[in-house]
Amino acid sequence: MVVVEGSAAWRLRGVILPDDEPGEIYVDGDRITFTPVPGAETVVDGGYLVPGLVDAHCHPGTAEIGEPLDLALLRTHGEQLRAAGISAVRVPGSAGRLPSWFGGDPELPRVWGAGLAVAAEEGFFPGWGRRLPADRIPAAAAEESRASGGWCKLIVDWMTEDGGYAATMSPQVVAAATRAVREAGGRVAAHTQHADGGTAAVAAGVDSVEHGMHLPVHLLETMAAQGTALVPTAVTFAQLAPVMDDPEVPVGMRRWFGEGWRGHPDLVRAAYEAGVTVLAGTDLPPGHLTGEIRWLAEAGLPGAAAVGAASWTARSWLGLPGIEEGAPADVIAVDADPRRHPNVLDHPSRVIIRGRLVR
Ligand SMILES: [Zn+2]
Repeated sequence: MVVVEGSAAWRLRGVILPDDEPGEIYVDGDRITFTPVPGAETVVDGGYLVPGLVDAHCHPGTAEIGEPLDLALLRTHGEQLRAAGISAVRVPGSAGRLPSWFGGDPELPRVWGAGLAVAAEEGFFPGWGRRLPADRIPAAAAEESRASGGWCKLIVDWMTEDGGYAATMSPQVVAAATRAVREAGGRVAAHTQHADGGTAAVAAGVDSVEHGMHLPVHLLETMAAQGTALVPTAVTFAQLAPVMDDPEVPVGMRRWFGEGWRGHPDLVRAAYEAGVTVLAGTDLPPGHLTGEIRWLAEAGLPGAAAVGAASWTARSWLGLPGIEEGAPADVIAVDADPRRHPNVLDHPSRVIIRGRLVR
């Protein structure tokens, strides 16, 4: 098989997920079609065809916590994400407003941004986001969603001075900010890792709960009913776990983290079972998406749900079709069924992103 970079069209044959039906598709520019395209070159013949992967929570362009957005690193991270087969990212809060080429450049993943995170005073890392008095939060939230063209990130709880964690916005402020973003036509991602913040976020009807440690289980039914997704970002907590065991870490923080992290697998499985949309996100540093898929499966999600969290479920949630007639052309081809063997996603035989053959 000779693959010519820049060739007009590709033909791919395999079992198409999530429908699980054998079929063949054609990629013609940044578009998928089931109608044969004359002269299309066969680049996949067998195995499984998976809708392009999505990292629903990552922060490309971040070198260190509190540092400004690094544009050279942003491009490097974008290239690394694409090389890892990730066709789309949602960036729930960035250290600076994302430049238009990030998302505009067809050689990089598709992007859903959220502007600068909106937080209470003392309610976020110094130097990052907009840390504001309560009365200015709703207008700032609407402004960030307009500036990003879609999302706003609200930090509704944060670390306390004594090493604990507590709500930093009242339920009224979270609700007012959520309403303001909706009126601006945007969606709200709420960072929460405390029961009070999680309760306020769910009561406000936010679109997504980010991290969600310590989220009370009784809220899951409401989340499922109103369509609030959960993005548990477990791989980033797994990296933090050994650091949090250090006796130098304040005892309150060790307890808060330890309880939240131990409870996370059960929470995420219960969320899935309650009908909550669970999505894969890697947070910081970006790019361990297949690790997150494996963690979701280990937490008890069925294989299809764990892979879907980083593929078709996330795409549909962002309004991005999977493998459908006329869909944007993001496809990963793997030799074995990723629902049973998620590791195959680490070694795709082919990757097509935005109609371009990446691999
Ligand atoms: Zn994050």
